[in-house]
Amino acid sequence: SRSGMDYSRSFNYEERSDYIECKICDIKIQSKTNYKIHLTTPQHLQKEDALVACGKIRRPYAVRKWNDLMEYLDYLHLDEPIIGLHHVVEVDPKQPGDPLRYLCRLCFFEEELPGLTLHLVSRKHRQRYLETNRPDLVTWDANNTAQLGKILKAKAEIVVLQDGQGVIEV
Ligand SMILES: [Zn+2]
Ligand SMILES: [Zn+2]
Repeated sequence: SRSGMDYSRSFNYEERSDYIECKICDIKIQSKTNYKIHLTTPQHLQKEDALVACGKIRRPYAVRKWNDLMEYLDYLHLDEPIIGLHHVVEVDPKQPGDPLRYLCRLCFFEEELPGLTLHLVSRKHRQRYLETNRPDLVTWDANNTAQLGKILKAKAEIVVLQDGQGVIEV
């Protein structure tokens, strides 16, 4: 299990002003994307269940089960270009009932839905995708790292328009 993963500090370092508070977990989360994903994590859902159980909050309406990554991405409706899905494969569960896991073969990164989705919108994944699949779009100055996140997002938007998201191998 990757329960120790800190979803509040994973990427988008340049968007420091864009904090959203999760009152249930009592943490501040960077960016709307991270916040939306956070709301679907086991850590958050367990805290929510505990507060519902002791009557401190009413159960909010929320979908908690997704049949695959595409369903999950549709549900999140992130304001982020998603690229390179043809590099992503579903990992066979070790036991029936295990949470869905996916592997990004481009970056050799394996995670459950929330962590994998954070990976897909990360600088690392976007940069690797552009370098390997669209070297024509690799025009940034490696020394100008302050703007790199924004540049990679803009390039990823071009990829979505020109090549699409890619299709997950089933
Ligand atoms: Zn939370
Ligand atoms: Zn990747």
